[in-house]
Amino acid sequence: MKDQLEKIKQEALKQIEASDALEKLNDIKVAYLGKKGELTSVLKSMKDVTPEDRPKIGQMVNEAREAIEGKLDAAMTALMKKAREEQLKKEVIDVTLPAKRNRVGHTHPNTIALEEVERIFVGMGYEVIEGPEVEYDHYNFEKLNIPKNHPARDEQDTFYISDNIVLRSQTSPVQVRTMEQGKLPIRMLAPGRVFRSDEVDATHSPSFHQIEGLVIDKNITFADLKGTLAEFARELFGPETKVKFRPHHFPFTEPSAEMDVTCFKCGGKGCRFCKGSGWIEILGCGMVHPNVLAMSGIDSNEYSGFAFGVGLERIALLKYEIDDMRLLYENDIRFLKQF
Ligand SMILES: [Zn+2]
Repeated sequence: MKDQLEKIKQEALKQIEASDALEKLNDIKVAYLGKKGELTSVLKSMKDVTPEDRPKIGQMVNEAREAIEGKLDAAMTALMKKAREEQLKKEVIDVTLPAKRNRVGHTHPNTIALEEVERIFVGMGYEVIEGPEVEYDHYNFEKLNIPKNHPARDEQDTFYISDNIVLRSQTSPVQVRTMEQGKLPIRMLAPGRVFRSDEVDATHSPSFHQIEGLVIDKNITFADLKGTLAEFARELFGPETKVKFRPHHFPFTEPSAEMDVTCFKCGGKGCRFCKGSGWIEILGCGMVHPNVLAMSGIDSNEYSGFAFGVGLERIALLKYEIDDMRLLYENDIRFLKQF
């Protein structure tokens, strides 16, 4: 039995020495020290050993076990250390390599235009206010002097969610909500997404953006409207820009007008960009209709105001000379990077 133990021990140590992988060492551990391992089976045959020999044999088994375990541990530690060193060597970072460029997005022309418009009006003391895109009928229409039979309410223009809830077709409901709060005077800008059931083409989209402005105070006249919007046009398109107003009709303003600016390409001489006229249509505006003031609880004998609305996409298309509105919605980074 003593020879047998010695043989097992020497064989195990030899195998450990010859091992070059952790898996092999594990196999050796199982083969010699495991539940069905060789040393364990020696222990199991102790019952055949005479009682006086048992302590001696037991001691020898323990010695063999300790020798094998010790050798195994040392071999495993050495192998793991070697593996770690190799890994570190592989993962060395060459700090002299050029850095990879981080691909981030690009500010959208709509956003650039919106920030520009907001900057101009905030500079004139306006507050930017946002409101819900899903809106009650009476905010989107009724309280803006657009009664039930008005053509603008036709289902072909407006997305209805239910009889009295719509996807807002303009940002004017934000102004109604602000007027209702009754805090006067008001100088506000309401930018946001609006929805109309239009077919998609180069100049139309079922979803686009409006920026509407509203001023309500004592003694506001059409002269204030003209002065403000002329200043806006000069800030946006350059100091040489002139404006002209053409009479128009909107249900929520009276009188109403559309404003043109001199073509910033040809300075008003006429070119392909302005279709030879020298003028470019830019926004709608007017004095707030007394009905609209009254419906929001504002005394139209004491207060008056003006409002205007401009399409954000229209500003972006004009300012960056983009000829197809659809490009603004495709989010092609190669397109966006040009601005
Ligand atoms: Zn022109």
